[in-house]
Amino acid sequence: MGSKNNSYFLTALRDGQFVPYFQPQFNYETDAITGVEVLTRWVKPDGFVISPGSFIAEFERTGFIYEMDKYIWDTACATFASWKAKGYAIPSISVNVSRYDLYHSDMADYLLGLLSKHGLALRDVHLEVTESAYSDDTTQFLDALGDLRRRGFVIEMDDFGSGYSSLCALKEMPVEVIKLDGDFLSEEDCFHRCGKIILSVVNMAHSIDIAVVAEGVETREQADFLKSVGCRYMQGFLFSKPMTADDFENAFCRNTYRFSSVELPGRESGESIDFFDIESQNTLIFNSFVGGAAILTRDQTGTVRAVRMNDMFYRMVGIPRDEYMKRQYDFLAGFDAESAEAFTDALDVAASTGGEASCMTLSPDIDSKGRAFWSHNRLRLIARKVELEIFYLSIEDITERVELSSRNEELLKAIEEREDIFMNAAEQVNMFFWKYDIRTKEMFPCFRCQKYLSLPQKVENYPQPAIDTCIFPEGLHYREVMERVDRGEDIDEIMPLTCERVPFRVRYTVKRDKDGNPSVAYATALPVSE
Ligand code: C2E
Ligand code: CA
Ligand code: CA
Repeated sequence: MGSKNNSYFLTALRDGQFVPYFQPQFNYETDAITGVEVLTRWVKPDGFVISPGSFIAEFERTGFIYEMDKYIWDTACATFASWKAKGYAIPSISVNVSRYDLYHSDMADYLLGLLSKHGLALRDVHLEVTESAYSDDTTQFLDALGDLRRRGFVIEMDDFGSGYSSLCALKEMPVEVIKLDGDFLSEEDCFHRCGKIILSVVNMAHSIDIAVVAEGVETREQADFLKSVGCRYMQGFLFSKPMTADDFENAFCRNTYRFSSVELPGRESGESIDFFDIESQNTLIFNSFVGGAAILTRDQTGTVRAVRMNDMFYRMVGIPRDEYMKRQYDFLAGFDAESAEAFTDALDVAASTGGEASCMTLSPDIDSKGRAFWSHNRLRLIARKVELEIFYLSIEDITERVELSSRNEELLKAIEEREDIFMNAAEQVNMFFWKYDIRTKEMFPCFRCQKYLSLPQKVENYPQPAIDTCIFPEGLHYREVMERVDRGEDIDEIMPLTCERVPFRVRYTVKRDKDGNPSVAYATALPVSE
């Protein structure tokens, strides 16, 4: 039955019914096209287009897949060569390779033959190999891949994250690019559950110089999220569906699209590494840098080491280089627990965003005398080497500021406490008190006056507002009393207050300034018990 089907498929192939479609990949930060994936469509004579989901598995079963793939690779290479001839600077195409193709010993030779037939280079045609193929027959599979790699082909690991063996596969497969499976993004609550996985996959891949292309990107939110975790290469319906060669040429080649190839993470940030080189120009700048600065590394176990510090760093921290040495190899151990956590969080943010992150830390005993040191830290990722993140740290000594503000806090607390005692005492004896500024005629009532007599914190043009609100009932001699206070006379009299004319003993004690002129008066009012 297989052979019968194969002859039917072969006729379709000779008829040109298998057609390569093209889907672009983008750098989301620059909008440049970084590559194109070739995806096959079966176009029936009646024009009906069938997706590979309905025929690839069948072709793999019957063995026809190799015939189809060779044909598609050939056709796609011809198209790509014609684009190059027209001057379109598309960096590369990626073709899909079935694991069954890998079992054909002539596959690599066939591909090399295609390259020379169409005048293409090895890096022009990337091979996408699906990750799930890894689990089948590991040895044969890895041998085939190793052979392709040795011959110079660029291999991309397809559908990364869809299988169970992703991590092992990544370790052993000789790949330059992984394509992150679109299913990771399709979940509704993806950003909660999968966000962290994606973040660590991206970081891990970058740390071993592997680029990540996210597949199946359909929404702006997904794209923004991916960008935020450092994955900038994307492919998906948000940008474009797969389309015929003509459509692709019209849409992307004839107008203003820019092209640039995928950059491998290790190469991008390479120039920062010479911070480690004692003689380098950067070292000079680093050492004469005005602020305290250090270069930190973090390995995969999370251990943070300070590998370089400038002179100002030691001056700020306030200890000599040799005394600092013992802290340097476990940088986090010098902090208190809360600070160590804040510092780790800031490192994570700096690593994942590529931007600046900051935090405040306390080193409870920075020197042998047990002195505490508060620092405001600013962190930036400067490079990723294999299994190592490298950060730039600048510090600012805020010990004095922190201690000052905590002292102020103590002082305020003491004052509050005293006020508390006073207020309670006033409440117990049922006393009201206030301050009267003789020169400005401002009256400052106590808390109880404000509460029971609905007075504001400051009463202007005293005593008029008290007369208006009937605290001082109409027709009595309060105005004269205040005139006597203004002249500097102390008062001690019984007076009826409020509309209910409750008798109060009211006392004013007048204070004078250094010239002997009356300036303020302190007053109390106590209800007269019958
Ligand atoms: P694949 O290699 O993972 O290709 C990506 C698939 O995702 C393609 O499906 C593509 O059309 C689809 N896609 C692209 N953007 C989006 C998006 O934003 N959302 C969603 N939901 N899907 C998106 P397609 O073309 O149906 O191909 C299915 C699979 O068939 C491919 O998966 C590949 O494994 C295989 N295949 C396709 N062409 C060939 C071929 O020429 N040879 C071989 N051996 N396999 C092929
Ligand atoms: Ca693919
Ligand atoms: Ca895929």
